[in-house]
Amino acid sequence: MGALDRLESTRDSICRAAADCGREPRSVRLVCVTKTFPAEAVLPLLEAGHRIFGENRVQEAAAKWPKLREKYPDIELHLIGPLQSNKTREAVELFDVIESVDREKIAKALSDEISKTGKRPRLFVQVNTGAEPQKAGILPEDADGFLAACRDNYGLQIEGLMCVPPVDQQASPHFALLADIAARNGLSELSMGMSSDFELAIQLGATYVRVGSAIMGERDYVA
Ligand SMILES: *Cc1c(COP(=O)(O)O)cnc(C)c1O
Repeated sequence: MGALDRLESTRDSICRAAADCGREPRSVRLVCVTKTFPAEAVLPLLEAGHRIFGENRVQEAAAKWPKLREKYPDIELHLIGPLQSNKTREAVELFDVIESVDREKIAKALSDEISKTGKRPRLFVQVNTGAEPQKAGILPEDADGFLAACRDNYGLQIEGLMCVPPVDQQASPHFALLADIAARNGLSELSMGMSSDFELAIQLGATYVRVGSAIMGERDYVA
């Protein structure tokens, strides 16, 4: 089975998972994660009409996407990996959605860049729901304060939240926690669920699922 078949079957699974919990299938959007895969591997998916993609590194995305976008201007590209403040300018230029806003330094850098360029990517805050030291994201207990700071101190309009649960734990409490934080802060978008658990994430309210290997195949190296 090739990537196109896997894309199709992932879409089917998303529709089924949404229908099973009484949600409108269109309320769940599929971010196809293409990190580590070259432009040639992405092209067939674009030709087949898929438009929403995710990358976790600014450099890699900069090398891959501008050319693809020339041919497919209606691409929606998501940054799903950590953002360094010295890459903010490039990120604002490249990405339509930045899912990994997670500290004041980044909020300030984004705010400066947005005022300078007038370009306004949609923004999500990443929450480190498992409080893992090696993982990006604001701690759950700091999320409300950080969201308020994004709005009040930096004029950023945050639309949603993103999380990557610990690999060695059940994902559902993490998805539920993310949904809770979003609900009490009036945020409508929830980016959660990957190849192994997107159906569960849909049950718990995901509006974006980020699926890589289940569509693209196994990655050659960990990215
Ligand atoms: C790589 C990655 C994904 C996709 O992971 P798969 O398990 O291959 O579906 C999703 N989200 C983030 C943040 C990633 O880095």
